[in-house]
Amino acid sequence: MEESNLTNDLIKKTAELILDSNNLVVLTGAGVSTESGIPDFRSPKSGLWEKISLEESKYIFSDPKIFKKIVQELGPKIVKAKPNKTHKVLAQFHELGILKTLITQNIDGLHQKAKNHLVLELHGNATEFICTLCHSRFKTKKILKKMKSLDENTITLPSCTKCGASIFMDIILFDQPLHRGIFYESVSSAQKSDVFLVIGSSLMVYPANTLPNYALEYGAKLIIINNEKTDFDPRANIVLRGQAGKIMSKILEVIKKKQK
Ligand code: NAD
Repeated sequence: MEESNLTNDLIKKTAELILDSNNLVVLTGAGVSTESGIPDFRSPKSGLWEKISLEESKYIFSDPKIFKKIVQELGPKIVKAKPNKTHKVLAQFHELGILKTLITQNIDGLHQKAKNHLVLELHGNATEFICTLCHSRFKTKKILKKMKSLDENTITLPSCTKCGASIFMDIILFDQPLHRGIFYESVSSAQKSDVFLVIGSSLMVYPANTLPNYALEYGAKLIIINNEKTDFDPRANIVLRGQAGKIMSKILEVIKKKQK
């Protein structure tokens, strides 16, 4: 992990930029949920790539064995996870009228659990499975329970109880195209933003990582909060290096003091 660069001055400067904004748009990545116990992909040692190779993961929708492995690795953690400080601070930003649009690459539904209901989910949501044929939805919690009762060597997942077709986690991964409407709205929000804040993302996943470009091209200021370097750091107005929960709590503290 990179060394933290936090100073009271930097936190104050960030809080002021956020408070002075008219259109704050936030993009979150897997790094905002590691403090809730869900591994990200790229953190050294704890990232998911340590357990599932990138090559393997490409076959998630064509090889049921790999799909089962990923569901069993991520599913229980997502079902059990609770929102952490970052999710809660962002929900408060929304309540205070500071946060206009929240875009996430995450599939864990934790922003919604923290009562941030208007979320643009670029990669879908793993808390539900969807039937490929009749589009019925099923809670992941229930599917995991059914999977537990299956023999270890059974590869197939439970199927749709209404029509019998295959069901999949309602997520978008790797070479799949994003939901057009959601991506279009995210691009448009980025272009309209005056401050674009990225939290807990390596900014390596396309096309989510094009969003800061849209914001910068249209004159927004860029803030990055991450515990490792990203390729966008040189173009950011502020880079805060450290744990997202701690940083976001400090920013909220300053904002609340200034609003008194
Ligand atoms: P990523 O794994 O590529 O990057 C996460 C970044 O967050 C890393 O740079 C890491 O150093 C940083 N980080 C980790 N914990 C942090 C913390 N506590 N504070 C500050 N920074 C922290 O994740 P990404 O950019 O979101 O892209 C990967 C893809 O992974 C996304 O498409 C997402 O859908 C998927 N994913 C989602 C979840 C989830 O929903 N929680 C979990 C794993 C993967």
